[in-house]
Amino acid sequence: MTSAERPRLYSTEAIVLRQTPMGEADRLLTLYTPHYGKVRAMAKGARRVKSRLGGHLEPLTRVRVLLAQGTTFAVVSQAETLGNTLALRGDLWRMTCGFYMAELVDRFAQEEQENGALYRLLEESVAALAEAPDPDTLLRFFETRLLALMGFLPELHQCASCGMALAPVTNSFSPAVGGALCPACRAQQALARPMTLQALKVLRLFSGCALEAALALRVPEPLAVELEHLLRQYIRYVLERDVRSTEFLDMLRREMREDAFLAQQRA
Ligand SMILES: [Zn+2]
Repeated sequence: MTSAERPRLYSTEAIVLRQTPMGEADRLLTLYTPHYGKVRAMAKGARRVKSRLGGHLEPLTRVRVLLAQGTTFAVVSQAETLGNTLALRGDLWRMTCGFYMAELVDRFAQEEQENGALYRLLEESVAALAEAPDPDTLLRFFETRLLALMGFLPELHQCASCGMALAPVTNSFSPAVGGALCPACRAQQALARPMTLQALKVLRLFSGCALEAALALRVPEPLAVELEHLLRQYIRYVLERDVRSTEFLDMLRREMREDAFLAQQRA
């Protein structure tokens, strides 16, 4: 839907992707909505302690907002919480996974470009964060589905270079060529990396399955690492830049590994 069709004052459900302080007391929000895509909105006075709006507008919160269309930004005139992240309080790792998903949507989505399926993906994935048996698997599912919904799913069924059907062997993967490569084409692609058959199968599954099916999957550690690197490299290639929150994800993971190691030493 374009801004021309949009009423001056409108109500929409939204997920808060990001907020930045503006001036003394305001916040500039980046919202993701089911019908209007990404919307930038000003929440006036939201940083004041007694603000009616402030508490509803934390990142990852699902809200119903009443927005007044302004010249540069919309202005939030009312906000009501539909789903919050209280269940994640105290779990920095899962919270950071959520911020990463929000950042990906922010980077891929356009303003005023409706993508209801992407909204539902974000909504169900944020809702699943607290209970997901393995948040890493949730992230890999989220990345794969997001790429598919934005038209960037890598080629996973035939060689992205010669078009031959992929054999059930270790193939390769090249972001620059656009997906999987057969062993014969690998030689011409210096930057291609090996891709195990298991990784190929998981990506094929995630590109089409429901969230519940993805979360039920047990992904052993080496395969989890392979999938993370592969998707990160591909997303970086598509976006032509790094995703900022991956740095924090990596730092937290290193700390968790060290903690686990120390706990093992003490036991
Ligand atoms: Zn080939």
